[in-house]
Amino acid sequence: MKIDTFKNQFVNNIYLNQKLAKYTWFGVGGNAEILYIPEEEISLEKFLKNKPNDYKVFTIGAGSNLLIRDNGINGITIITKKLNRISIDTNGIITANCGAIDADVARFARNHNRTGLEFLIGIPGTIGGGIKMNSGAFGTEFKDVLIDVKAINHDGKYKIFSNKDLKMKYRKIDLKNEWIFLSARFKTSLSTNESIKNKMKKIIQSRKNAQPTGVKTGGSTFKNPLGKKSWQLIDQAGCRGLKIGAAMISEKHCNFIVNLENSTARQIEELGELVKQKVFKTSGIKLSWEIERVGNK
Ligand SMILES: Cc1cc2nc3c(=O)[nH]c(=O)nc-3n(C[C@H](O)[C@H](O)[C@H](O)COP(=O)(O)OP(=O)(O)OC[C@H]3O[C@@H](n4cnc5c(N)ncnc54)[C@H](O)[C@@H]3O)c2cc1C
Repeated sequence: MKIDTFKNQFVNNIYLNQKLAKYTWFGVGGNAEILYIPEEEISLEKFLKNKPNDYKVFTIGAGSNLLIRDNGINGITIITKKLNRISIDTNGIITANCGAIDADVARFARNHNRTGLEFLIGIPGTIGGGIKMNSGAFGTEFKDVLIDVKAINHDGKYKIFSNKDLKMKYRKIDLKNEWIFLSARFKTSLSTNESIKNKMKKIIQSRKNAQPTGVKTGGSTFKNPLGKKSWQLIDQAGCRGLKIGAAMISEKHCNFIVNLENSTARQIEELGELVKQKVFKTSGIKLSWEIERVGNK
């Protein structure tokens, strides 16, 4: 099937050659050849079942852990932000769709006096991205609260994965990229609104103290090597404030790269690679990217 014929079936939500920069926290990135923003799970299923076979699929949540390169992404890019419903059952199990923003899920749990999801208040991603990255903060990760997740593959086939199936580890899971997460169930327990609010306040305050806020960034650039802190290694290598073009290592948190104004993805990536080299020289440790780099250079 030709892409034009296919596009006409989804004319409201499919866009050709759309700039992706505005869908990422870094504010950089080239075009998506085909961009699809589904409003319903069922439309996504229909889309995947009918798409031309030779098109690759890439999924974006909030784009808070992505560096999309300047020449964009070939094939189909799906943005999940409109699939964002959240609900709770009589046992206190919270179900969130993949595009729900983590902080909205945290607030939803608080509004129902359910504890366990406070850590989500400061992570700027979506539920789908959080599961993919096994995101975490302040001693809790998705691994600790996830019951199971419903997913669909690039051919439109559904499957439920239990927490155990995903083999969740520090900032990674063991699952092929062909699976798009649709909705996830989380365990919570009963608490008081006051105590949940206090936990969240503390988290928000600690973040404000330790991290740059209101800036274009991808969060932690590198994973922490076992028993070490990347920010310390980067600091010891003299990289605090290091710049390439408008990309800079944050003065406040050395593991954050900040796009000061109109940086390119290339400058951000080059800065990251330079930091890796410098850290290796001073410590003998090879940092590995936590931020995912995708697309064409
Ligand atoms: C200021 C800032 C602070 C941050 N703080 C933290 C922190 O404290 N802890 C932490 O762990 N991370 C943190 N991050 C990183 C980031 O927020 C997390 O990795 C987040 O969970 C990514 O979610 P996302 O929706 O933005 O995913 P994206 O960045 O859009 O995508 C990340 C990956 O997930 C995949 N993906 C997205 N949605 C789906 C889906 N529905 N199904 C399958 N795959 C999907 C993408 O293909 C990609 O591989 C921070 C980032 C920023 C900018």
